[in-house]
Amino acid sequence: MSLPRVVAVAPGSPAERAGLVPGDEVLALDGEVPRDVIRWQVLVDEAEVELEVRRGGLDRALVVRKAAGEPLGAEVSSSIFDAVQTCDNACEFCFIHQLPKGLRRSLYLKDDDFRLSFLYGNFTTLTRFTEADLERVVDERLSPLNVSIHATDPEVRARLLRNRRGATSLRWLRALLDAGIEVHGQVVVCPGVNDGEVLEDTLVGVLDRYPGLATLCVVPLGVSRYAPEGSLRAHTAAEAAAVVDRVEAWQDRFRRVLGRRLAFAADEYYLLADRPFPEAEAYEGFPMHEDGVGMARTFESEFTGRSPSTTGPRAGFFAWVDGAPAEGYRAPRTAPGAVRLRARRGAPVAVLTGAYGARVVQPLVASLGRDDVRVVPVANDFFGGTTAVTGLLVGADLGRALAGEPEGHRYLLPDVCLSAGRFLDGTTPEDLPRPVEVVPTDGAALRRALEV
Ligand code: SF4
Repeated sequence: MSLPRVVAVAPGSPAERAGLVPGDEVLALDGEVPRDVIRWQVLVDEAEVELEVRRGGLDRALVVRKAAGEPLGAEVSSSIFDAVQTCDNACEFCFIHQLPKGLRRSLYLKDDDFRLSFLYGNFTTLTRFTEADLERVVDERLSPLNVSIHATDPEVRARLLRNRRGATSLRWLRALLDAGIEVHGQVVVCPGVNDGEVLEDTLVGVLDRYPGLATLCVVPLGVSRYAPEGSLRAHTAAEAAAVVDRVEAWQDRFRRVLGRRLAFAADEYYLLADRPFPEAEAYEGFPMHEDGVGMARTFESEFTGRSPSTTGPRAGFFAWVDGAPAEGYRAPRTAPGAVRLRARRGAPVAVLTGAYGARVVQPLVASLGRDDVRVVPVANDFFGGTTAVTGLLVGADLGRALAGEPEGHRYLLPDVCLSAGRFLDGTTPEDLPRPVEVVPTDGAALRRALEV
């Protein structure tokens, strides 16, 4: 267990008034050693908080006095102070198993921790969930949570997770729903394994046993060039179309029985099947936007100005948890203090994006009727396979694409491929052969950047 270490104190905050300084290690809050930032938040919510801190090897006591519910104004170095619960599954489709060697260590962390689900929207299979976890989720109302379902048939699920507990762990899903916890489910579909009749059975199982699920997103597996030998393969266009048809047929059934669509096929399926995206209303408020469901439609409505607000990243409930940085799990996209390039007025503009992103952005850019703006789709050779989403673009591929592009143009780079200012291969935008302007990955931001 590591101690929460204070990394920032807001000027004028209760934490500063009490004498807390960056570098302090917090031993206890009101006599309790917090396990994570969720518990931290509960404890610092009080009007008076006693802190035991360690500074320069010496322990001291501080007392914070503030209004109940007022933020403490201190940021700590991580969100989980005891160990992150790691995953004990061995899914063949796991993208972490398909990563090349030598990337930063945090990318290889296979977490299966309901706290990260609550804080950042990570998915949990519940195979390591316990009665005590359930009690905590219910007592502290840690809602919503995201749960990987994959199949409701116990044997099929255990086979997919390669874990015998996969056969029984959905009992926790039932318990969470019974306790009124909002749960979003996910099915990663592997062709020939859990599509077709297995997917049909899963949708029947959801209606039968888990109709209280808030949503169910159906996403295709990703296959990189590093995929281990085995039965793993990408969908064909016909298989993708069959998944879309099945999900849409089930949306009608769910609407008749439950009054809502419940299940949604990921945008990637519509691209794979070469089908138009459903209308924006069909996404029922885009609850799974961050998981690639409805992203194309939101981007479009932001770009055209039909949507009043931008979506951007929504890291679970992290947004309202005081003092919980996503460091190590979901870091901010741009590095702190990153230098923004001043736009070169009048220069031709190129929008850099992945192969899928290009299919969404190209028609929007074309609708502007400007011959000074073009889209540059960047192939993902680094991961290879079916990897085509913009979020997995790396500096090596962008560098190769930019090297063949003219100097003096404006190159717009969506921030979704950055984490704390770095690409997944460890390089930074400054390593690229042409200067790029990093823009937030939403339609309104792209539109604004093109209006400069
Ligand atoms: S549960 Fe998730 S992290 Fe664990 S092996 Fe399966 S896909 Fe990978």
